[in-house]
Amino acid sequence: MQAPRKQVKKKSRRRVDERSEIDLLHSYRSALQKYGCDLTEHDVDNEFYWYFRLSELLALAKKTFLEINARHFSGLLIEPRIIYCNRATGGYYNKARHTIGISLAMTVEHGEPEFMETLLHEIAHIVVQSHSPRFYTVLRNIGGSGKKAALTTLLKAKRERFLTEHYPVQVRCPNCKHEYRYRTRRALRYACRPCCEKFAKGKFDPRFKFVEIKPSLPMEESGSEDSSRSGNQS
Ligand SMILES: [Zn+2]
Ligand SMILES: [Zn+2]
Repeated sequence: MQAPRKQVKKKSRRRVDERSEIDLLHSYRSALQKYGCDLTEHDVDNEFYWYFRLSELLALAKKTFLEINARHFSGLLIEPRIIYCNRATGGYYNKARHTIGISLAMTVEHGEPEFMETLLHEIAHIVVQSHSPRFYTVLRNIGGSGKKAALTTLLKAKRERFLTEHYPVQVRCPNCKHEYRYRTRRALRYACRPCCEKFAKGKFDPRFKFVEIKPSLPMEESGSEDSSRSGNQS
């Protein structure tokens, strides 16, 4: 007797260290919640929609890689695994695992154009690891623009958190209203440099002494992330 199809069917080729789209979507959602971001805009609760959309994009990524490989590299590149990752934006290429990771947050917030831009960037990294001029030549040849990865709500929230944590004192110039951040409350003894230069011949002028905007809030966790597309933290 034949076994039920479900059991015979090969399980997904995912490794244990890879996380499913839904898993990543969940952690993206809880990260947004943690940072107090608005969740409604991208309909992240609609798991059904996102599951299909994200899988669709992965299929497109595979197809795109195969086309680029055939057209530009005579099919000589080995096909990488392409997955989503929990970076706040952009992506990475991990040479040892020959894996491309693309930010799920960025894909959800900015859709196909940014997803494709990151894909091309990481494909170019298969050929050239560094961000050398040769890298950008390869990237342009395969259709990438070379622009920086898009800013996401998650990245903005992480940066804001980082600044609040490391530069907790926020001050404002009473004259030009420009805002500054400092590490310590010593900043309250300083004056706005541009205004002092403009109106006081570069000398300290109490008229431009900083005013504190809000008291610093204690923050429990840090996190800064660059927005470069590649990286692989190397
Ligand atoms: Zn000023
Ligand atoms: Zn890169």
